[in-house]
Amino acid sequence: MKVWQQPLPQIYNQLSDAELRVRIASAKETLGDRLVILGHHYQQDAVIEFADFTGDSFELSRRAAEQKGAEYVVFCGVHFMAESADILTPEGVRVMLPDLGAGCSMADMANLDQTLDCWAQLQETCPDQTVVPITYMNSSAAIKAFVGEHDGAVCTSSNCRNVLEWALAGAGRGERDRGGRGDTGTRGRGEEEVHYADDRALTAPVSASPRPRVPASAHTTPNSPRIKVLFFPDQHLGRNTAYSMGFPLDKMVVWDPNLDLGGNDARRLREADFVLWKGHCSVHQLFRPEHVEQVRAQHPGMKVIVHPECRWEVVQKADATGSTAFIVKQIEAAPAGSKWAVGTEVHLINRLAREHPEQQIIVLSECQCLCTTMYRIDLPHLCWTLENLVQGKVVNQIKVDAQTRKWALVALDRMLAIKGTGSRAPAKTAALPLD
Ligand code: SF4
Repeated sequence: MKVWQQPLPQIYNQLSDAELRVRIASAKETLGDRLVILGHHYQQDAVIEFADFTGDSFELSRRAAEQKGAEYVVFCGVHFMAESADILTPEGVRVMLPDLGAGCSMADMANLDQTLDCWAQLQETCPDQTVVPITYMNSSAAIKAFVGEHDGAVCTSSNCRNVLEWALAGAGRGERDRGGRGDTGTRGRGEEEVHYADDRALTAPVSASPRPRVPASAHTTPNSPRIKVLFFPDQHLGRNTAYSMGFPLDKMVVWDPNLDLGGNDARRLREADFVLWKGHCSVHQLFRPEHVEQVRAQHPGMKVIVHPECRWEVVQKADATGSTAFIVKQIEAAPAGSKWAVGTEVHLINRLAREHPEQQIIVLSECQCLCTTMYRIDLPHLCWTLENLVQGKVVNQIKVDAQTRKWALVALDRMLAIKGTGSRAPAKTAALPLD
C-alpha cells in the first residue's frame, strides 16, 4: 500500500532523543488512560520504551480491543496491524500509525484486483472443486474481507495448522448462506480467554519426519467436491505449514499474480491441494540454508530456531520453527548456558539477547534482517502524533470502511471460532530438545 506521510514540522527532527523522550512521556501522562500505545516485537527499543503492551500483531490488536475507556490507540507497527486494530476495537476508538509510510512489503504483495482475477481463474479451471481462501494476518483489510466473504478465514503464524485443517475439512463451506459466521461447535470470541501468543505452530523440529498426512478423506468425500486452499500472501508460511501436516511439495503450486493461471498449467492447478500466493517477507526470506550450516560449523551445540516465514529449505535445517511468540517462549524457558541462533527480525533478537545474558543468543545471519518499514516509526513521529493528540488533533488515523470491516471481522471471528486457534500447545509439543 502506497500512502503519503506528510513531512514532520522541523522541530521534531531537531530535538535530541533525550528531549523527545521527555516530551513523549509528558504527552503520555497528559493523555492518561485515554491512550494506549502498542509496540510490535520488531519495533526499535527507543519506541518500545513507551509501549503499554508489546507482542505480535494480533495479540496487540486484542490488547487494544480489551482496553476499557481508551479513546486512542497509537500502533507502533505497520499499516495492516493498525487496520486490524481498527477492525477489532469499538467504533469510537481512533487508531493511529505514527508514520503512514510504515507498510509491510508482504501485505503489499497481494491486492484485491489480483485476488479477484485469481479467484475467477481458479473457478474456471477447477469448476468441480471447492477453493477455500485463507489469509495470513499480514495482509490488507481488503484481502481479509475477500476471504471473509468467500467462506475463508484469517490465520496467524501460531494457529496456521489449525486453520488449514479446518479449511480442508470443509468447515467453511456455505457459511455465507448461514449468516457468515463460523459454526465449528467450539467457542466464539468472548466465551473464553483466548491467548494468541501460544506455541501451537510448527513446534517440532521440522527436519524430523512430517506429522501424519491429513487423510485424503478429510478434504474429499464421495458426496463433496475436492477442497483446495488458496493461501495468501506468504508462500513460505503456507508451504512450511502444509508440509508439516504431511502434504508433499508436489501438491503445492505457487500463484504468480502477474501470469496467466498464476504461471501454472491447468492440470497442475487442478491436482494441487495448496495454491500458494507468490508473496514473502523481505526480512525472513533473507535467511538461507547455508547460514544454518555456518552456524553449526562455528558454534557446535547451538540450536537454530526460525520463524515459519523463512524459506522451506531453512526450516528443514533448523532445530525448531515457530511464531515470534513461540521463539520468545522457548528462550524464556531455556536454562542458563543455552545457545541460540535465531532466524527472525534483528530488533527482537537483540532485545532477547539483552534480556537473557545468561544465554548466548545470536542472529542466524548478519544479512541486515531488519524490517525497514517498521523502523520508520521513531521517536520524532511518535512525539508528533502524541503532541497533536494533546492538542485534540488526530493525525494519521487508520480507518477501515464499514463494508470491508464487516467481512474482515467475519474472517477474524471465524479464526477465533476454530478449535485450537487460541489454546495452548499440548505438552508434548511445548518442549525443545535442549542440550
Ligand atoms: S517483518 Fe516482514 S512480514 Fe513483518 S512487517 Fe516487516 S516486512 Fe512485513
